Parts: sequence; C-alpha cells; structure tokens
Amino acid sequence: MKTLSKTTPSACLIFALLILLPRLVSAQRVVESDSHRFTEIATDVWHVSGTGSVYTMSNAMVLVGARDVLVVDSHVTPEAAGALLASLSVITDKPVRYLVNSHYHFDHAHGNQAFPESVDIIGHTFTRAKLSGEIGNVLEETTFRSFSDGVPTLVARLEQQVLAESDPDRREGLQERHRVQRNYLNSLREVVPTPPNITLETEMTLFQLSDRGSREIRLLHLGRAHTGGDVVIFLPRERVVFTGDMMLPGLSYMGDGHVDEWPATLEALKALDFDVLLPGHGPPVRSKDPITNFQAYLTDLWEKTSAMHRRGVDAEQAAQQIDMTNHSGNYGQLRRPGVDPRAINRIYELLDNQGR
Ligand SMILES: [Zn+2]
Repeated sequence: MKTLSKTTPSACLIFALLILLPRLVSAQRVVESDSHRFTEIATDVWHVSGTGSVYTMSNAMVLVGARDVLVVDSHVTPEAAGALLASLSVITDKPVRYLVNSHYHFDHAHGNQAFPESVDIIGHTFTRAKLSGEIGNVLEETTFRSFSDGVPTLVARLEQQVLAESDPDRREGLQERHRVQRNYLNSLREVVPTPPNITLETEMTLFQLSDRGSREIRLLHLGRAHTGGDVVIFLPRERVVFTGDMMLPGLSYMGDGHVDEWPATLEALKALDFDVLLPGHGPPVRSKDPITNFQAYLTDLWEKTSAMHRRGVDAEQAAQQIDMTNHSGNYGQLRRPGVDPRAINRIYELLDNQGR
C-alpha cells in the first residue's frame, strides 16, 4: 500500500506532464486589438494579421526589443498601416524604429507613408527603384490595377445589396462589409508610394537589443523569385523566417515573378535553419515540404509554358490550355486546365526577352 501510494501520484504527475507539456510548449500568446491579431511565435516575435474590421490584405511581423520595435511590411493602405501602428500598444509601449519591406507589392508596402518620418524603411534596391518610380509607376501597373480597379464597383454593389436586404442580421453583415470596403477605397485614393531609405543588395544584419541579449535579424535576398527584390527576414536564434510572398501556404501570385529562377531561390530558403515559416498571407507553416511542392509546381509551369511559347501559341490561349491538375493533390483549386493569365503573360515576357 505504502509503495503504491508513493508511486501513484508520481505516475499521475508524469502522465499529466506527458500530456500537457507539448501543449504548454506549443501554446502561443494571442493578443487582439479591434483591427489586428498578434500571435507570439517566439518571445517578442509576433506574426500579425487583420481581424477584418480594417482591410489589411497581408500579414506583418513585429519584433519587440528592449528599446525599440521593428515592423516587417506595412499592409495595403495608409489606413491599414495606421491601424497596425495604433494596435501595437496591445503588445508594447516601445517606439517603432525600423520598417522592413519584404517586397514592393502594394499589399505589403502601400502603408509605408503612414509610418512616422523618424522610422527608417529598409528594403531591396529593386523595391526602392519600384516604389520611387525609377522603374515605372506602381500605381499604373497590372499588379496593382488588377487587384484595385474593381473596388469602386464592389463598394457600389454592396451599397445596393444593403438597401435590398430585408433580413436584419444579413443586412448588418452587408453594412459592415460595405463600411470596410468603402474605407479601403477611400484610403486607396490617398496612397503615395514611399520607398525604403535604406537599401540592401544581398544581405544586411541588424542586432536588436532585447531582454535576452541582442537579437540577430538577418535580411536576406536569396535570389529573384516573387519579384526582383524579395527579402526574407531570418531570426537564427528563434529559428523563424518571414518570407513575404516568396513562399505562401498556397500558390503565390506570379505576375511579376521570375518563375525560372524562383525554384533555386526556394532551395536557398530551404537551406536556412528554421522551424517556423511566416508567410505574407495565411497561417504559419511548420514544414519544408510545401516549399518542395511549390518548387515542383513552378518548374512544371515554366516547362509547360515554354513548350506553348515554342509552338507559337499566344499567351491568352496558353493560359486557358495549360494543365496543372497534376498538382491538385497539393493545391485543391487546380481542378481543370487553366492558369492565371497574368502568370502566363509574365512568363511569355521573360521568354521573349531571353534571346535579347
Ligand atoms: Zn506580393
């Protein structure tokens, strides 16, 4: 009896620890403001997404140090970035010192102007060239316009739907959607592309003073991929990497991509020692398998599109005909032939320029 009474509690304790420990280890602090949800991935490393009350479109990352804060990506509008800045008080009272742009796309960088002038903006030289207008006007490009030109129509349609809806609950839901999209539209009109004032070509390392010593923050351009200037933010001690849109849980937009070079850049990403990948859209990824799957998709798309190009099929026809359904096991939406025409136009553009 005596022996039993001694072993039973300890056996219970061990059993309880076995059950609870993994949950305790993986338990993540989640803090919300009205507009933003902050998930603590490692100590003072936050993955940030919108709650829906303000249209943010993309994720961000926030690194809180002992003296200051570094933010990665600024969302889609000054409105969304302003809401992010106002929300930081739920996790820290430290001032923002740096903003890093993972790439130049509107949904990650058109909130830049909302950051105070005291904040330095860091990005790739290509990101600066795009946002400063040195290479074209980002507000006139297909990428921005194909996502933004439909917003006034959507706002007008939602307004009509609100008026036509008689069910009070559904009407309330529509009113909220209308409010969010109308505010998004208003802020879209005030966007002034604002470039990084500190640039890098291949690599830069920051050491942020934190309560646990200095945090190494590596900014790495691993090669061209989703754009000509993708930068990943790698935290070696925390084994975390923020990838922007170079690597997402699903398929990434390819309209400005270097689809032929992208798989090699992803190989360099795979070589980094990380456990958690924070994407520019969607939830964290805790495996490298999706990277391999995406490499296979990109290689296959490049080959299939090149074959169409060689046969003289025009880009529009190719976009309808190319069959990627052999990847439907990884990407459920690929149920029938057809690829985003913006991706095919882009690959044709690269192929047309190859011989020059
Ligand atoms: Zn992007």
